[in-house]
Amino acid sequence: MGLDFIAEELARREAEGFLRRLRCVDSVEGPHITVDGRRMVNFASNSYLGLHDDPDIKEAARRALEAEPTGALASRLVSGNMAGYDALEGEVARWVGAERAIVFPTGYMANLGALAIAAGRDAVVVADRLVHASVIDAARLAGARLRVHRHNDVAHLAQVLARESGREVVIAVTESIFSMDGDRAPLTDWCDVVECAGAVAIVDDAHATGVVGETGAGCVADADLSSKVHMTVGTFSKALAGLGGFIATSDAIAKFLVNCARSLIFTTGLPPAVLAGDLAAVRAAQRATGARGRLDELSARLRRGLDGAGFDIGASASAIVPAILGEPERAVRVSGALAERGFFAPAIRPPAVPRGTARLRLSVTAAHRERHIDDLVKAMRDAAGRAR
Ligand code: PMP
Repeated sequence: MGLDFIAEELARREAEGFLRRLRCVDSVEGPHITVDGRRMVNFASNSYLGLHDDPDIKEAARRALEAEPTGALASRLVSGNMAGYDALEGEVARWVGAERAIVFPTGYMANLGALAIAAGRDAVVVADRLVHASVIDAARLAGARLRVHRHNDVAHLAQVLARESGREVVIAVTESIFSMDGDRAPLTDWCDVVECAGAVAIVDDAHATGVVGETGAGCVADADLSSKVHMTVGTFSKALAGLGGFIATSDAIAKFLVNCARSLIFTTGLPPAVLAGDLAAVRAAQRATGARGRLDELSARLRRGLDGAGFDIGASASAIVPAILGEPERAVRVSGALAERGFFAPAIRPPAVPRGTARLRLSVTAAHRERHIDDLVKAMRDAAGRAR
């Protein structure tokens, strides 16, 4: 039958240790998560500032839910452009120092929207090899050619850009903090190379939103590169503990996105309660200096601990700390052994990361305590010993 490949594909994935299953999250409180009935310390959350329990954010969302409809009920361009959008986009633009911000239903869709500038043109997207799947999908959807350069290698980026210089639109994309490795792009040099090549610069700042800089405005704002980056993509779904993505950009590009970004046009707007929660979270993040300081200290503690215990943590320089274990089976075994000891850290396997680099992606949040970090390092030592 025509669908035999489905059973074959699933069997192959099972045999190779790649089969994914959805687990039921029963609850999340502070640094804890209860999954399939088991309560653990959560090292798999992107709520870097610990804002997911914030009473002001909950209250803002609750008030909007009571006063406004449950949903936006239509696309933003039809009748779904609820008042909360204006307030949220204005606040984000001021925060990151851009002329305009355009909000999308998710960060994934913001990346799809950003690459709408490539659609229907002789365009090439030149991306870091480790850039997020949403950027790859965005380039494909836009029908652009995709070229990758070696990770964080701006000399290689310059070479690739030079080869593509004849195209109508040349777009360079990088992440600022890489989602699976936690290392940082050399953004200033990257911007210089992109500017020199006359290319469009897009930075996915998803893991820096709320986290990097005095007010958490992200890596682009913190390095004072807003004038060199044409679009900065951020998300409300990580440190801001909500939902939605944004593109911070110029007035002209913002108008273009409203007219041409299919991931904004052909989908329903965000519910008012989500917009209100996101706005309250952006405001809370700007004030969260103490949480950012704690996050930095705890992240450094985990990096030191794992490194000292002999784990390969790559070039992590953020709250994302990988323990690179190699084969998927090993990552799954270590993850299982950690769960028995009360730590939630699912295995990350290809295709989310390159083959041979299956890992635990440990993410630290300001809700953790020092003892959580120290106990995790101890448990990792025991678990990896047993899983060799
Ligand atoms: N960009 C990066 C670098 C990400 O890690 C993610 C989320 N995994 C996204 C974009 C997509 O963001 P969202 O979850 O808001 O769709």
